[in-house]
Amino acid sequence: MRERMMRYLRYLLPMKWWFLLAILSGVIAAGASGMGIPFMIYKVFPVVFDPSKMPEAVSEFMAARVDPANLKNVLLLLACAVMPVVFVIRGVAMWLNAVLVSYVGMKILEHIRMDVFRKLQSLPLSFLERQQKGDLISRVITDTQNVQTMITQVSNDIIKQPLTAVSAIGVLVYMMYEQGTMGMMLTNIGFAALALAPIIICGKRIANRSRKAQKGLGDITSVVQESLASQREIRSYGLEQRQIDELSKGTDKYCKDQLKAVKYQQILVPVMETVTALALANMLVQGRAMGMTLTDFLGIAGALFFAFDSMKRAGIAFNKLNQAQASLERLDAILSEPDTMPDPELPQPIGRVEGRISFRNVNFSYEEGKPILKNIQVEIPAGQVVALVGPSGAGKTTFASLIPRFYDATSGAVLIDGVDVKDVAKTELRRHLALVSQHAMLFRQSIKENIRIGRPQAEDEEVLQAAREASVFSFLDDQPQGIDTVLGDAGGGLSGGQRQRVAIARAFLKDAPILILDEATAALDAESEEKIQHELEHLVKGRTTLIVAHRFSSIRVADRILVFSHGEIVGDGTHSKLYSSCPLYRELYDKQGI
Ligand code: ADP
Repeated sequence: MRERMMRYLRYLLPMKWWFLLAILSGVIAAGASGMGIPFMIYKVFPVVFDPSKMPEAVSEFMAARVDPANLKNVLLLLACAVMPVVFVIRGVAMWLNAVLVSYVGMKILEHIRMDVFRKLQSLPLSFLERQQKGDLISRVITDTQNVQTMITQVSNDIIKQPLTAVSAIGVLVYMMYEQGTMGMMLTNIGFAALALAPIIICGKRIANRSRKAQKGLGDITSVVQESLASQREIRSYGLEQRQIDELSKGTDKYCKDQLKAVKYQQILVPVMETVTALALANMLVQGRAMGMTLTDFLGIAGALFFAFDSMKRAGIAFNKLNQAQASLERLDAILSEPDTMPDPELPQPIGRVEGRISFRNVNFSYEEGKPILKNIQVEIPAGQVVALVGPSGAGKTTFASLIPRFYDATSGAVLIDGVDVKDVAKTELRRHLALVSQHAMLFRQSIKENIRIGRPQAEDEEVLQAAREASVFSFLDDQPQGIDTVLGDAGGGLSGGQRQRVAIARAFLKDAPILILDEATAALDAESEEKIQHELEHLVKGRTTLIVAHRFSSIRVADRILVFSHGEIVGDGTHSKLYSSCPLYRELYDKQGI
């Protein structure tokens, strides 16, 4: 809790002057409402209706300057002018207060949203894999939106109303003291305390319900996101109704939780108004018993009204804040997620990398107690092309993922050119690696810009050269704007083989000394694969390359093969050596019929 407050304070610090100005204008607005108006009724009305009640000092001053015949009119005018003056001051201060609170709130929120997104970019993959993507999307978009809406809704009230209540209660106490009505004062303070109870009780319940509702909204987003991403599977297995039912269940639960929050929110107004009516009725009874005049009564009633009305409005604003609090907690959970794979404090520069890779006694598990890689010991000299083969689930992809530090070895070390990858800054390390994965991810931009991702500062000519080397031009005739054609989501509009070529062009452009081809050709039909093989052979030349191979055709380019089984390397050598000495390799190879 304390940590969270400190974090918000850090966000507030750059805005401190605006925030102080917001508070100051809130104080003025509150003073003008809570004190100014009741005072006006209490002090000015009697003067207007009976100028003899003018305070002596003022009437002497006026009498000295003004023709006595006009005195009454001037007094009247002056007294009446107090009202618009109070309202002008109140109006300007209220406007300034609401605008500044919104400004400060939104700026802070903007920082929080960016920090959450930044954090998501840097948190370990293992964290992201455990999360529902839809829920994370919902946090970045809906929860921040929720907080933003609340800020604008409460900006007018959050500072002004509590201060108005305090100043109105202050005036009330003063007036009742002046009237010598201690009993009345005490009962009214009792009523004010009574009015606080529903604010506190409802606030807690609203926060709980809102927490559930926001979580529900995350679940709904997950269902929608999953459904849109897996339409082929859903249609081929006839899962449409299941998805619809799931969304309906989620929406139903979300609505129920929302409705419960709304019920608690709306109960506040009638409860507070009843307490106000009770307090006024009590005052009528006591005032009448004491023989209070109408103007005295009106002044006190005005202060009482402002005290209770502003408590009610402050209560509504606090309830909205409670709702926003639920969203803030969800954002905060991401911000406070520890980075389990931080960069080293003093990262080691690795300069030019030759591409020597060493695995020293490497053990790895995704979950405690379930070892995936067991005591891996391998030296890969610079420039060697290594194919990783083995049954599915044997640990090949995991092995390759330790080199770019997608995960950290549980024990042992992975070294590049003799430097432990944990001693190098992640961005520096990854500059020396190119990755072509099974499902090449293309972004919603032109083919050319998709290739440029390999090296953003590359000249146009270099991008075109990389495209030529990966035979991207062979399919550009079909694209409406050639290499400038903008792709749909995730490279929509291109076939698997074409996407793969764009990814290979990216790797050509990056020109990194280490290359990881994660089943790069697995998603292709035999013909496309045959064609791409040629570009791959060209790409791997002179680079240390790891090919996570499922099809044995991709081992044609390999100098060396590592055979994986249950997280261990059970074979290491050339094809002919392994075929004669490694039974698992022979079995896998023969099954492929190659
Ligand atoms: P291969 O590439 O040889 O098919 P992987 O390295 O992908 O094998 O997987 C090895 C084992 O690790 C499998 O049992 C798989 O279930 C598990 N695994 C892979 N990725 C994850 C992950 N992100 N979280 C938890 N377990 C995983």
